[in-house]
Amino acid sequence: MWSEGIRSAVAFTVDLDFETPWTGKDPNIAARPGALSLAHYGPRQGVPLILSLFEELGVDATFFIPGKSAEDYPEPVEAVVAAGHEIAVHGYTHTPPYRLSRDEEEAELVRTLEILRGYGSPVLGYRAPEYGVSVHTLELLAKHGVRYSSNFMDDVKPYRHRESGVVELPVHWIMDDWTQFVHGSDDWLAQNATSAHVKQLWMEEFRAIHELGGLFVLTLHPQVIGRPSRMQMLADLITEMRAHEGLWLTSCAAIAERVPEGDQ
Ligand SMILES: [Zn+2]
Repeated sequence: MWSEGIRSAVAFTVDLDFETPWTGKDPNIAARPGALSLAHYGPRQGVPLILSLFEELGVDATFFIPGKSAEDYPEPVEAVVAAGHEIAVHGYTHTPPYRLSRDEEEAELVRTLEILRGYGSPVLGYRAPEYGVSVHTLELLAKHGVRYSSNFMDDVKPYRHRESGVVELPVHWIMDDWTQFVHGSDDWLAQNATSAHVKQLWMEEFRAIHELGGLFVLTLHPQVIGRPSRMQMLADLITEMRAHEGLWLTSCAAIAERVPEGDQ
């Protein structure tokens, strides 16, 4: 499906959740500044480290941002836009749409589109918090001019959803730093895989997708991947991936644009 010379595509995506996964689940989280300090690592350290690595290695990435994060922390969003990266919608409150009514979901989408467009960038993509799309999501994206979704786990190649015509850039839990470094318990910090293990997992999946001529979408979070040892692993991962001939490493919007009309 790619043009001549391209065998597979890779998109690095960063979800700027900041405080929203905590505030969305526990309204009293402010009473636990220690727990919330992990959220603050994102804007304080994670984003600057990620931006400087991407600049050093010349990576064009996509940052999915909850509207509330962009309101509470404009500086990191400005830095992302100034560095030339794509920004895209990640809900407003970080509530998965399947838990919202259709009207609530639409209100969150419209509000965040307005906030993000206020940063002067086109906003063309959408990722649901926790990939938790609803039965209304695709129709709402088409209605509001959002061209692609990066939520479904049903393919290794981009495709176009029937009816809505929205492009899908498929994801999977394997290719998500949260699942590898955080999940596994109610305790936010219970799981600590080594970077070497995670790099091996991601390289194995990348090599297989490259063979199939597909798309590898990596989902990262600044407070997770932004630990110093993991940033080193990310740098090594990018370098190793680039050694594969025919790799196209670019933003989600650039990939979505290549999916032809009617490709389902
Ligand atoms: Zn998120």
